[in-house]
Amino acid sequence: CIPKEIHYPTRRLEGKVALITGGASGIGESTARLFLKHGAKVLIADIQDELGQSLCKELGTPDIISYIHCDVTCETDVQNAVDLAVSRYGKLDIMLNNAGIAGEDELRAIASEGDNFRKVLDVNVVGGFLGAKHAARVMVPAQKGCILFTASVASLLYVGVPHAYITSKHAVVGLAKSLSGELGEYGIRVNCISPHGIATPMLFKTLKTSDKRKVEEIILRNGVLKGTILEAEDIAQAALFLASDEAKYVSGVNLPVDGAYSIN
Ligand code: NAD
Repeated sequence: CIPKEIHYPTRRLEGKVALITGGASGIGESTARLFLKHGAKVLIADIQDELGQSLCKELGTPDIISYIHCDVTCETDVQNAVDLAVSRYGKLDIMLNNAGIAGEDELRAIASEGDNFRKVLDVNVVGGFLGAKHAARVMVPAQKGCILFTASVASLLYVGVPHAYITSKHAVVGLAKSLSGELGEYGIRVNCISPHGIATPMLFKTLKTSDKRKVEEIILRNGVLKGTILEAEDIAQAALFLASDEAKYVSGVNLPVDGAYSIN
């Protein structure tokens, strides 16, 4: 019996168009870099305009990568971002709902008069919902598409981070699960990725330090898999798999990329 030849494409997203919210920094930035390397056209949507624009300049010309200001809590912004992806690049294949905030720390949040809880849910959950809603608007007629959410190990466990964040990430997984059921008949796959800690600006803020080595020490100390640090590119690699045709039958999963942190 002759084994079937397996062909692994080197540009796994050739011809695809991706929209990445929160793409100016951290996990979103890494994913934009990797998707581009694999042949996708990428639209970065963020509120950090200077950062997003200079990243695009560094990575290529507007025919393959561009930036749009988009606050994911504002439906018109999200609608405009999806419409720009379609008008500039012809379609939308991959929607990565990645923008997120950690919010205030627990005690301050409870004591604070500001509405931290609503704000975190607004960005992390409503923002993701709006992204999925407008992606589905163009993916349903195309009868195909891939919607991804960056969740977190905080979607699976109590991980000692603020309660609003944990609530929001549990909600994101519920949303993704429901959407995978609802959109499956239109050929649209919906999945989540749940990273453990990564030294990005969000974690610097949460841990109140800008010292990358300190943050990495904490990640190593709290990790299960010893001797290795989780990096933004590891999440980008998971997103690449889920967005590619190799994952054509994968939908409705929440993929932990956490070195077994969430096993218990
Ligand atoms: P980051 O701060 O580097 O990136 C987050 C990006 O989201 C920023 O560019 C920010 O400007 C953008 N953003 C924030 N609010 C926005 C809004 N209203 N509209 C549009 N963009 C907005 O942090 P990161 O670690 O790369 O975070 C990306 C995602 O990964 C988040 O959803 C976060 O919850 C999740 N995550 C991070 C970690 C970690 O340890 N870093 C772990 C698990 C999950």
